[in-house]
Amino acid sequence: MSVRAGIIVTGTEVLSGIISDRNGPWLSERLRERGIDLAHIDVVGDRTEDMLAALGFMRDAGLGLVVTSGGLGPTADDLTTEVVARFQGREMTLDPALEGRIAEILKPLAARYPNLDRAAIAAGNRKQAIVPAGATVLEPVGTAPGVVVPPAEGREGPTVVVLPGPPRELQPMWAAAVETEAFRAATGEATVYEQAILRLFGIPESEIALTLRELEDGGMDLAPLEITTCLRRGEIEIATRFEPGGEDAYTAFAAAVKARHADTFFSEDGSTIDEQVARLLRERRWTIATAESCTGGLLAGRLTDPPGASAYVRGGVVAYADAAKSALAGVDPGLIERDGAVSEGVARALADGARERFGADVGVGVTGVAGPDGGTEEKPVGLVWISAAAGDGARLTRRMYLPGGRTDVRDRSVTVALHAVRRLALGESDGA
Ligand code: ATP
Ligand code: MG
Repeated sequence: MSVRAGIIVTGTEVLSGIISDRNGPWLSERLRERGIDLAHIDVVGDRTEDMLAALGFMRDAGLGLVVTSGGLGPTADDLTTEVVARFQGREMTLDPALEGRIAEILKPLAARYPNLDRAAIAAGNRKQAIVPAGATVLEPVGTAPGVVVPPAEGREGPTVVVLPGPPRELQPMWAAAVETEAFRAATGEATVYEQAILRLFGIPESEIALTLRELEDGGMDLAPLEITTCLRRGEIEIATRFEPGGEDAYTAFAAAVKARHADTFFSEDGSTIDEQVARLLRERRWTIATAESCTGGLLAGRLTDPPGASAYVRGGVVAYADAAKSALAGVDPGLIERDGAVSEGVARALADGARERFGADVGVGVTGVAGPDGGTEEKPVGLVWISAAAGDGARLTRRMYLPGGRTDVRDRSVTVALHAVRRLALGESDGA
């Protein structure tokens, strides 16, 4: 049995919802990669008793590893290291060499802001160099060192990895933490799990549940596989975890899912639709341009997100008002008048306009009612038209009634548009 772990995310601003937690989910994925079973994520404010309670709970639950985030700064409300030392029964002691290294880091800062109070800086510097005796120090990425703190001699309990709050500091420091002796000693030879992801689009989750049942009823051995499905941006993600030796079971399972859902299956290597579209556009040497209404540029945003997208994205317009659709994307005002702004004709015209105006190989048009106002009985909130057109006359146009609120409708529309581009690049077309 491998070691089980807990995560304690500290910070009153996370607890109150002012900022949303990025460290818990990130650490969760890192632990899973190492085959360490995560049992709990606890979010606590910057209060000693609450942190101690969380640590105590995790010890009592039998966890062998706890990772904390936040509260390593130079100010008095940053108290995680001290609390963890107390929990582990270790004294806090000054590490003079560490104090010197932090001072070096602070030098350029002090030079840039000559008016800062020197004494306050020195005090903060010293505070951050006071660490639990017997802990392994993780060198600062910002100014705060982290620590890996095993329980004091003769005590039972988890080893605690103490990391800073800012994700850009926490992430590199995690890489250093896993290399330490203290971390290895706590985690032992954790089983290395494989994790693989399949993705499908345009199918309800219930269908996948049914498939799983039928495969098992048909005699397929799914026991070596830990399968979880979830719905993300309208796509089904099937994540499967297995120990070495489970490869054959997984291969059979993945092939069966692919065969049963050939029309909606799109990713067997875990790649996302965004990555696939990027790869296909590059492979085909196609450029792309967009003309969006209800999605307000979100499609252009996702298309331009991958590094190197400037090689194939020409640009995009957000044409919200009818006049803008005509002026910027060349949509015939008479067509808008006749069919309405949310219509098949306008989606097609937006796609063609984007292609022509930007001189791209592929144009995508999106027009819809994202709500909450603007819906009518005939054109309700969630009605979206998408058209993707290529220069050779190939075209895919889709009408959807997307569920959910404004954000869902906009997000899902973009996903549908990306899938249309993928299919177009794979040679599909509506014909006519
Ligand atoms: P600092 O030296 O900056 O005070 P710290 O280690 O004490 O670092 P915190 O004070 O807990 O960390 O958080 C500092 C900032 O880091 C927060 O204001 C927030 O912007 C970011 N941060 C902290 N925790 C998280 C988290 N769980 N998810 C996302 N961002 C976080
Ligand atoms: Mg802080």
